[in-house]
Amino acid sequence: MNKIIKLDQKYNLMNKIENKIKYIQKYPKLSEMRTKLQKINNLEKIYMKELGTLKEKTVLLENDLKNKEYELDKMNKDLYSGLIKDIKLLENIKNKETNLEKSKEIVEQDFISNMDEMENLNIKIEKCKIKSEELQQIIKNLDEKIIKKIDEYTYKLNVNLDQIEALRSEINNDELIRYDNIKNKYKNALVKVENNICGGCNVELFMNKISKLDNNEIIECENCGRLMYK
Ligand SMILES: [Zn+2]
Repeated sequence: MNKIIKLDQKYNLMNKIENKIKYIQKYPKLSEMRTKLQKINNLEKIYMKELGTLKEKTVLLENDLKNKEYELDKMNKDLYSGLIKDIKLLENIKNKETNLEKSKEIVEQDFISNMDEMENLNIKIEKCKIKSEELQQIIKNLDEKIIKKIDEYTYKLNVNLDQIEALRSEINNDELIRYDNIKNKYKNALVKVENNICGGCNVELFMNKISKLDNNEIIECENCGRLMYK
């Protein structure tokens, strides 16, 4: 096979490998997983903050309950000590006690619903943690695979580059310069001729060109300047 054709194939292979490396460096699934992980971690932070607020509220409710119990205890002692003889005063204390009991019940209800909310949040946080760990594991595995793949491609690329160097040293300088110049202009510097049509610009060739191609020569297209072979 003509060495220019071989060289061109090696350059095409080099492009392919480089594109594969570029693609895998920005592997879509990996960035998708990273975005998911970020979302889960943010959600967990929000839940943790809510939990903190609820914990503070719990302390307040507990203190409130303690105060009310203390007050009730005191009233109870007053009511049954026998020291207060005034009926009106006793009735007054009794009323206050009833009211305090009621408001204590409300605080207790608050306390219970607060505990329920905290429990729900703890379940949500736990779920976030599990999901986050799963995602981290997936990302870690993907990362390892990608690094391995990039190593493989880099090795192939280096072998290919060595082969390109070797091939270039075997091709005469004029031919090499001609190829390089066209390669600078076109990504596909060398094209195949099919049905007597240039594979680069689709223009039909003259008969004298076709006979050269039939002789396995590599010639330039008069229209686009690309190298052609058959
Ligand atoms: Zn052409």
